[in-house]
Amino acid sequence: MNNKLEKLVQNLFKEGVIKSEIVKQVLLSVDRKQFVDESDKINAYEDYPLQIGFNATISAPHMHAYSLELLKDHLQNGVRALDIGSGSGYLCAAMFLMMKQQQSKVIGVEHVPELVEKSIKNLSLSYNQQLKDKQIQIIKGDGRLGFEQEGPYQAIHVGAAAETIPQKLLEQLDKGGRMVIPVGKGNQVFQVIDKDQNGKINIQNVLGVRYVPLTDLNKQLYN
Ligand code: SAH
Repeated sequence: MNNKLEKLVQNLFKEGVIKSEIVKQVLLSVDRKQFVDESDKINAYEDYPLQIGFNATISAPHMHAYSLELLKDHLQNGVRALDIGSGSGYLCAAMFLMMKQQQSKVIGVEHVPELVEKSIKNLSLSYNQQLKDKQIQIIKGDGRLGFEQEGPYQAIHVGAAAETIPQKLLEQLDKGGRMVIPVGKGNQVFQVIDKDQNGKINIQNVLGVRYVPLTDLNKQLYN
């Protein structure tokens, strides 16, 4: 039993951020400590973002929980999911556990090579078999382009703020699928984007947020 993690999850439940049993179980199952830097292990179960180097952060637990609740109905057995700006790799593991696993697949796309390596190392602690089986896969690339080869995706999580919704991600969103994405410069809004069976797009603004920008690698590293 991990008391600190339990307390964190219980608080998120009390605050109403966690609404469902499955999200609660998944947050208890993925050990955030395995996804934060050595110097921050002591802060692993605090509800705020932590630096992971390269001007990136692992998002706060309440944002992870919030995103998983919004994507819950789309993270089903047999589907493919995409995590853009996968950073620490935390959400790749969490999204994978949300799905009934067997034939499901989560692909993370991250543009900082060192973070690709770091996230694979983090994931290998508890999800080595899934990495081997390519049920969880981290791709080095520009997340604004998505990952066409494995699309379309029932669920897309974007963990960095885009100035406008990337067209490629809209294209790779499956019919009946859902994307959650922070959008905007400065004042960002968290958007929920649904594509219906006819391919029609519906966008809802759900929350004001602050995310690292979804940008060029050089801009991120030398801004
Ligand atoms: N969900 C991640 C969030 C990491 S922060 C977590 O909780 O760990 C956002 C990430 O987006 C950073 O790792 C950053 O390097 C990445 N990123 C920013 N712009 C990108 C782009 N154009 N392509 C791929 N990754 C990008």
